[in-house]
Amino acid sequence: MKITYPPFGDARIAIESLLRDLGHDIVPPPPSTNRTLSIGVKYAPEFACLPLKITLGNYIESIEKGADTILMLGGIGPCRFGYYAEVQRRILKNLDYDVNWIILDLSNGWINLFKNIRKLINGKSIITVVKALKLAWKKVLAVDEIDKTARRARPFERYKGQVDEFIKEAHRGLELAENFSDIDRVLDEYSERTSKLIDSNLLDDLVKIGIVGEFYVVLDHFTNFEIARRLGEIGVLAENAFYIEDIVRIYFPIFKSKDLEEKVKIAIPYIKRSVGGEGQRTIAHTIEFAERGFDGVIHLLPFTCMPEIVSESVLERVSKDYNIPTLTLSIDEQTGLVGINTRLEAFVDMLRAKKKRRLAG
Ligand code: SF4
Repeated sequence: MKITYPPFGDARIAIESLLRDLGHDIVPPPPSTNRTLSIGVKYAPEFACLPLKITLGNYIESIEKGADTILMLGGIGPCRFGYYAEVQRRILKNLDYDVNWIILDLSNGWINLFKNIRKLINGKSIITVVKALKLAWKKVLAVDEIDKTARRARPFERYKGQVDEFIKEAHRGLELAENFSDIDRVLDEYSERTSKLIDSNLLDDLVKIGIVGEFYVVLDHFTNFEIARRLGEIGVLAENAFYIEDIVRIYFPIFKSKDLEEKVKIAIPYIKRSVGGEGQRTIAHTIEFAERGFDGVIHLLPFTCMPEIVSESVLERVSKDYNIPTLTLSIDEQTGLVGINTRLEAFVDMLRAKKKRRLAG
């Protein structure tokens, strides 16, 4: 069995670690490119959401490299994510791709879920499984820490791409890490290098932008046009509303965090109940960023994503009530880098001018 998985952001490091420790032969999905997107667009239904199209392209590229099994989550509604695995399975079948699926979802009952978990465990002992899970989890926390620190360091880098070089080395270290101390060593080295760049006295002067929206687009660098890097390079401290750890806690019941559930309640005056995806959370995060004194919020919306369309419809009211400017970027296969850059730069200029006026009293 040669297994592949849907990539998103830096989560690949933890997923690969888990699969490798469970003894699987892995075919890592090639990094997403315009080719990946074109393949997905060609075969997915026109109105499917963007993450479905990109991951479909990822699967086909992995199959071309020899993958014969796809690991995927499924059954998480009420948005279309619940149907992803099934839709993609049928598309690949119609294209005559002969692949097996390990779909982790409850929609086909517990027995089916356990069967799929057994395939994933691959005959390993409980001790091996627990060890593999713990190491993968530590890698999740590590990639998040690397990402968070990079966002503070980028506005101070001595030359363009300096922080990306640090990240690349740290990720390589994590890929090779076999235990907790290896991971700690990688993090220590990374932190030493980045802390030399960060000027704490100037942090407060930076324009601060929160990034909210649908989880795949917020976390996947290719899909969001590397928005955090772009903003960092023009001197902005861009913080995500959530990182990979939070998504695991939201979508995997065994990791559920009460704290995250509580935080969403702040959005209830605007959206009473969950509308699927991150719809309600987008509003909660925007309010949270406003209360933390951020200068603006960027809302990432995959075109046709219903949960985010609902949040967009109330975002203007939230922006007025909390006096925080927001910019919604709707992203699909037609979106171009030039358009994104122009809108980002105009938004940042506006926030900078506003901040200057505020600081001048
Ligand atoms: S949240 Fe939106 S983009 Fe994501 S799966 Fe659901 S409908 Fe699609």
